[in-house]
Amino acid sequence: MIQYSFLFLSLFVASICAAPPEYLSSRESVQHPLVDQLVTIEPECNAAEQKSIRRALSDAYEIAEVAQHIQKTDPAFSNYFVKGDKKFVPAMFESFLSGGGSHKKFPITCVHASSPENHKFCLGGNLAFVETDKDGVEKIFLCPQFFGNPAPPPGYGTTALTLSSKKFTAQGWCTPPPHILGHYTSLGAHTILHEMTHITFIATHALNPPRLPHGFRLVVDLMGQPDELHPGHFYNDWPPALARELKHRWDDYQAAQAKEDFSYKMPPVPTSRNAENYADSGVEYYFEKKCSNFKPADILVKAN
Ligand SMILES: [Zn+2]
Repeated sequence: MIQYSFLFLSLFVASICAAPPEYLSSRESVQHPLVDQLVTIEPECNAAEQKSIRRALSDAYEIAEVAQHIQKTDPAFSNYFVKGDKKFVPAMFESFLSGGGSHKKFPITCVHASSPENHKFCLGGNLAFVETDKDGVEKIFLCPQFFGNPAPPPGYGTTALTLSSKKFTAQGWCTPPPHILGHYTSLGAHTILHEMTHITFIATHALNPPRLPHGFRLVVDLMGQPDELHPGHFYNDWPPALARELKHRWDDYQAAQAKEDFSYKMPPVPTSRNAENYADSGVEYYFEKKCSNFKPADILVKAN
């Protein structure tokens, strides 16, 4: 589940609605071949929703193709992951691209107000979630907010951006430092990358865990988990900020362990098992590779 119920993200809808420049036309028309090979978009999604989904998926596969080459020495890795994750992270992006190593498809469907059993998971600013359907199949459910319908209130999150929303120039995606993290995470593809990590056959191929209990969710959300340093409190912040916070907590925990200080509590989720860490790391790495002026040390962790 991805939740942007915070006043951190700005609304980019206005800029998207501006007259599209000519360069959009060629790029918008090209769909990544993996969309049809690895995803089934269910007929519950109307034509406009299907178009948005195809664009977000195309962008997600484009980002994953770049991000599968991430290494533990890359800042986009170390901002979100500990060294012990060095095999998992490129493997997760490779798993997206290979359908969990076996070219297996997953379904995406759309939630509308008329589907109350699922609609309740879309309350509170949720954009999307993964659930197992009545046939036992894990599925990505996209909430009305994912499509800007209803449009998020001013200051709330958006997934309205596509890679073709801007050029890769200093006036577009590649603005000079400092870079604003929220400008990159406002891609629809970012939400898709996050949700794909929740799908068990994708996560299993990447993380290669020992035999799992039936129904065990391998990659989860830090949001709402108990805060190990503040008893009675729960992790609750803008998800990219939480993803980075989780990495810091693990750094501190591992440093304490190395000094045989066993009083420092272990965070509730490993970095390799928090969905948001992959989505943020992948997007950050992608823009680092695409923008020559991108300075990883100069990223502000804020939405706008
Ligand atoms: Zn999630």
